Amino acid sequence: MSLQSVKVQKLGPAECEKDAEKLKFIDEMTIKADEVQANVLKEILRRNAETEYLKRYDLGDATDRKTFKSLLPVVTYEDLQPEIQRIANGDRSAILSAHPISEFLTSSGTSAGERKLMPTIKEELDRRQLLYSLLTPVMNLYVKGLDKGKGLYFLFVKSETKTPGGLTARPVLTSYYKSDHFKTRPFDPYNVYTSPTAAILCADAYQSMYAQMLCGLYQRQEVLRVGAVFASGLLRAIRFLQIHWSQLSHDIATGTLNKNITDESVRASLAYILRPDPELAQFITTECSGGEWAKIIPRIWPNTKYLDVIVTGAMAQYIPTLEYYSGGLPMACTMYASSECYFGLNLQPMCPPSEVSYTIMPNMAYFEFLPHNPDSTESTHPSQLVDLTGVQLGKEYELVITTYAGLYRYRVGDILRVTGFHNSAPQFRFVRRKNVLLSIESDKTDEAELQHAVSQASKLLLPYNTSIIEYTSYADTKAIPGHYVIYWELLKKDAATGPSDRVLDKCCLEMEEALNSVYRQSRVADGSIGPLEIRVVRSGTFEELMDYAISRGASINQYKVPRCVSFPPILELLDSRVESTHFSPSCPKWAPHKVDDKVGPQ
Ligand code: AMP
Repeated sequence: MSLQSVKVQKLGPAECEKDAEKLKFIDEMTIKADEVQANVLKEILRRNAETEYLKRYDLGDATDRKTFKSLLPVVTYEDLQPEIQRIANGDRSAILSAHPISEFLTSSGTSAGERKLMPTIKEELDRRQLLYSLLTPVMNLYVKGLDKGKGLYFLFVKSETKTPGGLTARPVLTSYYKSDHFKTRPFDPYNVYTSPTAAILCADAYQSMYAQMLCGLYQRQEVLRVGAVFASGLLRAIRFLQIHWSQLSHDIATGTLNKNITDESVRASLAYILRPDPELAQFITTECSGGEWAKIIPRIWPNTKYLDVIVTGAMAQYIPTLEYYSGGLPMACTMYASSECYFGLNLQPMCPPSEVSYTIMPNMAYFEFLPHNPDSTESTHPSQLVDLTGVQLGKEYELVITTYAGLYRYRVGDILRVTGFHNSAPQFRFVRRKNVLLSIESDKTDEAELQHAVSQASKLLLPYNTSIIEYTSYADTKAIPGHYVIYWELLKKDAATGPSDRVLDKCCLEMEEALNSVYRQSRVADGSIGPLEIRVVRSGTFEELMDYAISRGASINQYKVPRCVSFPPILELLDSRVESTHFSPSCPKWAPHKVDDKVGPQ
């Protein structure tokens, strides 16, 4: 898109001078998107010219897009695994980046069942901070008076580990919350949280949530927005209130703290807020004891203007539940980011979830786009990759990034659709993540992983002359926490010796054991996914499913059993044929040190 054809759009008027500066920055970046992108690539290639990776492709001193595109391959995580493994094992030479790798960020995307390890460098924190700093000025354009109250945000850290070479490996948000950028952030009246930093930094999920909820309840009249990173996190908080309101209200009535909160820094941070408030305690008891949870958010926090949660992508499944608890409050999806790189922000954060588009900020990384045709099985040739300002309205693309930290032409795996432009920077609807079948929280289970889990569990059926003839799955998020449901149609060669309920319960656990580490962590450490369920359907059900699909126009020759279903009539059909249901009797194994095992010396 040429600049001449772009009608310059300016954001504003800004709420204050500080905001004006940030909005001007967004305008400048988006007006000069192509120039910024050329400079970002130039800078990345210049500073990393001596890295082993770039030298391998004989780039020399070239820093231009044409040479870069003609020499560098488009890669996936698996292609980079040997380099990543060496860094994890302690090789400090400039393999991918000239700047030292400061830590690994553990993505919720997995490779061979384990979290992907994304190398990062110190200055990336500044870049992330910069993107965060743009969110409030944009929000202030749409919601006034956010400086007159507080945000109740449920934010958590997760466990971290060390690689054999001594680098820390942890999720990107854990890294951010533990950084000085977050811990010693200057006071900003527009960003005052009800949660003390000590409560956010407490690694024990129960204690952290308890403390954050308690603070949110004490300050309920001051709360202007309620949020979490993803919708699933906010729903866990509501579930927590449903389970623990009685203890919370006891603490508020007496001004004492639940003895299960043992973390000293959390206790100290709560000392400032704890006081006997029998009236508030009675209010909470009245609101929570009746079993009526509709509109609980505005009932408890009556001044809430909006929910701050991401409900795009896999999280869209939670919109109806959030609407129920919030009485239809607006849901703001503010940003689009990943462990590899923070991408951009929503310039109209108060729009309905179905209309959310993210504007990629051209200063964050160098972005390319692989045209994606959902109907074609042919893979796109790298020469067809287009630049940020070269994408076309209405078309779908897979995001490919080149980062300061040393990922070059890396396929993120997200499919995006162009919905418009802000100046010359395109805006994208998040369409989906490639190859993800099931997702409840941050877990992402693909078809191969599900197949592997089913085949592991099927081994338990062998002694009973039973096999699985068909299966499909469903992410059930009607109750919190959500859980995986797997429909099985069994072939029992001998009805008399079929598997008992106990064996089928064990099959649920066996499947969980075979699922990836993000799933198991969510099950074990976070409790954010419930026990896996197997629903055995009666013989012939999958044939009926095929008949149904064909009646709706599917080709009989090309029909494949969908490995995941969500279409209500199909679910109804399956559920009406259920013969027995089974749940995992216990949690699968998960240990925080798994990362070490995986990247240990070969
Ligand atoms: P992770 O690497 O674990 O940080 O996960 C990053 C991935 O989460 C992205 O590549 C997306 O697939 C997904 N994601 C992040 N932000 C959003 C968003 N705003 N809407 C939809 N999906 C998102």
